[in-house]
Amino acid sequence: MKDLKSLLDAICTEMHIDEEDIRLRKMHLGLTAEEEARLRDVHDRLEDFRGRFLDELYDGFMRFPPTAALLGDEAQMRRLKQSQGRYFDSLTGGNYGWDYIRNRLLVGAVHHHVGLDTKWYLGAYSKYVIALLHYLGEIFDPATPQYRDVMAALIKIIFLDMGLAMDAYLHAGRMNEAALRAYSESLVANTPCGMLVLAQDLRVISANPAARRLLQLYEDVEGLALDSFFPVDEVRQLSQAAWQDGHASCNIFLPFAGGETRNLLVSFARLSPIEDGRGEPLNEAALLMTIEDFTQLWRASSEMARMSNYDDLTGLPNRRLFQELAQHAIGRARQRSGRLAILFLDLNRFKDINDTLGHAAGDALLQTVALRLKGVLRRNDVVSHFGGDRFTILLQGLYDRQDCIQAIHKIQHVFASPYVVADRELFLSANIGVSFFPHDGEDPQSLLKYADAALHRSKEQGTGAYCFFRSGMDNNARQALSLTTELRQALEQHQFCLHYQPIIDLDAGRIASVEALLRWRRPDGELVPPLQFLPHLEESGLIKEVGDWVLLEACTLAGGAGHEASHPLAVSVNVSSVQLNDPEFSQRVFHILARTGLDPGRLELELTESMLIERTGVTADNINCLAEMGVRLAIDDFGIGYSSLAYLKRFPLHTLKIDRSFIQDICEDGQGAAVARTIVSLGRALSLRVVAEGVETPAQLQLLKRWGCSAVQGYLLCRPVGHRALEPLLGRDWLAVCATLPGGGPATGSFSGVTDPEESRR
Ligand code: C2E
Ligand code: MG
Ligand code: MG
Repeated sequence: MKDLKSLLDAICTEMHIDEEDIRLRKMHLGLTAEEEARLRDVHDRLEDFRGRFLDELYDGFMRFPPTAALLGDEAQMRRLKQSQGRYFDSLTGGNYGWDYIRNRLLVGAVHHHVGLDTKWYLGAYSKYVIALLHYLGEIFDPATPQYRDVMAALIKIIFLDMGLAMDAYLHAGRMNEAALRAYSESLVANTPCGMLVLAQDLRVISANPAARRLLQLYEDVEGLALDSFFPVDEVRQLSQAAWQDGHASCNIFLPFAGGETRNLLVSFARLSPIEDGRGEPLNEAALLMTIEDFTQLWRASSEMARMSNYDDLTGLPNRRLFQELAQHAIGRARQRSGRLAILFLDLNRFKDINDTLGHAAGDALLQTVALRLKGVLRRNDVVSHFGGDRFTILLQGLYDRQDCIQAIHKIQHVFASPYVVADRELFLSANIGVSFFPHDGEDPQSLLKYADAALHRSKEQGTGAYCFFRSGMDNNARQALSLTTELRQALEQHQFCLHYQPIIDLDAGRIASVEALLRWRRPDGELVPPLQFLPHLEESGLIKEVGDWVLLEACTLAGGAGHEASHPLAVSVNVSSVQLNDPEFSQRVFHILARTGLDPGRLELELTESMLIERTGVTADNINCLAEMGVRLAIDDFGIGYSSLAYLKRFPLHTLKIDRSFIQDICEDGQGAAVARTIVSLGRALSLRVVAEGVETPAQLQLLKRWGCSAVQGYLLCRPVGHRALEPLLGRDWLAVCATLPGGGPATGSFSGVTDPEESRR
């Protein structure tokens, strides 16, 4: 409670209680100065009465539980009794000036403050008047005018009193209500939460300062439609939901002029109309819209998310986010039966650069690598800094391995130009390991593990190489290492040997050439076929040395003086993509030809379709260079590779070798037969020699011959043999051999009982 004086001042001011008001009140009561004097006269004679009356009054209070409860302990009751004594005393004191008036006002205000209901106050007055009625009757004869005059004056002063006290009591209540209203208004005005009261048609009824501030509203908004300054579609739906359900809220990103976006929590609550005492609505139902600004929190949490998901140095997704993105990408790829690749990329020589030029230079280098990598990848590919000098890359939407190889070439190109760091030009290189979903693994962790294993393997192949994961690479790392050692020893200790398989020219009935096929004879005598160790030779890079040896050995055999005169022999040698990707390969072939004296036209190199896909690059350079030297080129395993046949025209080829898988079924399967037969016609149309691989039955031979296939190779006529066993075969008449085959006949005619499934269908 504020101090009594200022409270009384406020009551007097607000209620306009002043000398004039008191004069009017007295006039209205008819209270005259004579009557006031009359009361003063009787005052002393009431001395006795006042003492007695107070005792009786308080005894009565004590007996009546509701008033007894208000009296408190003994001491408090004494205090109350004394102040009430003074109060009654002043009633007849005859001094009714301004102090008296303020005292009466104070009584009302204090009663309101302490919560003393008016009924107890008025009850006490009634007891006083009745007691006085009796007592004055003892002093004056009640039948006399004197008695009536004193009573009349007393009643008037009591009503003046009560009027003042009641007015002060009620006004104190109103003052509290006003204070409460002011308090709630200040809450609304000062809350940082934006508040708008809206009519049902979403026109603004009122808006608090925070709403104006938040929405940057500098004009009056009362009466405006909400969507004229809050153009967010969700808001209309939200307000409708609130009309139905009572409340609704959602998070909204609101763009502002200048490009700033704020994150707002917008809530609506339906406000029922206010009703008067009779339940009549005083206003219309409305909506309260509150707007809380979470922009800072949102920015802070976005920044935290950024920090926990992105690498500080390069700004690229970190390991955690990469795995998360890879997980999503795998989910999508799984739905669409798609493929994706995970690449592990490791920079070479990075540690040296860090050590010699310092960490700042190393950091700058990593940042530039990150930028360049991002620059060459597609938008939905992901590059991440895995830590140190390692990056991981996610390639999505791959059609086949070739797509991935193209992306790898783009990545390798990132290292083709120098990096300028600390005023120096540095050349970098990177090795890459690749794993595929779904082929190698089904989850990011396994795919990363396998790409890492492939990365290790790529390092064995040399600086800047890449390698695809193959099963066994990871858990057989040790085994692989020892196999590398064994194969190296095999080369040094001459454990490799070549077997030769004749390719028979069906028109001439002679061996047109022999294919050199690599074998590994282990120290224990076991002869290991090439498919068991070739992948490892390729991965370890040993294929270059072994390939050179094969070429030298094969060219030596073909260029041997013995064949030169009697049976000039041509030789086919298989070449791996690793060899063909070596810039010096054609040069080495040139030297081997020179060393062995073999006519380049009697060396045929067998390539596979995938090697011919590229139009430019090392492989293409080698192929063109070999062709210029006069070396013949064959496509091995033709038909199983790539659908584009553009390369058939692009490169100077001589031979197509139909893959064994098509020959296998030509007698039973109409489709296999169709493919083989088409390849034969294609070869003829392009003036290429066509060799059918894996001919195992006379029926296959007969069909091929009928279709016009120029040459065959297969177990039917001859298995691969060592060079000594080859000698006697060279001069043989192979038409005669064919004729002796079961169901045989003249090679130009048809074997009896063999039908061409293609023809029988027609
Ligand atoms: P390729 O070049 O397609 O060689 C033909 C393969 O088919 C040889 O297997 C051969 O023995 C086998 N073959 C021939 N006629 C028949 C037949 O009638 N039936 C069956 N079932 N198989 C037949 P090989 O010697 O095991 O060689 C497998 C592959 O290894 C070769 O396939 C070739 O791609 C590769 N290879 C062999 N030697 C070398 C080499 O010196 N360097 C490279 N890079 N690869 C080689
Ligand atoms: Mg071959
Ligand atoms: Mg083949």
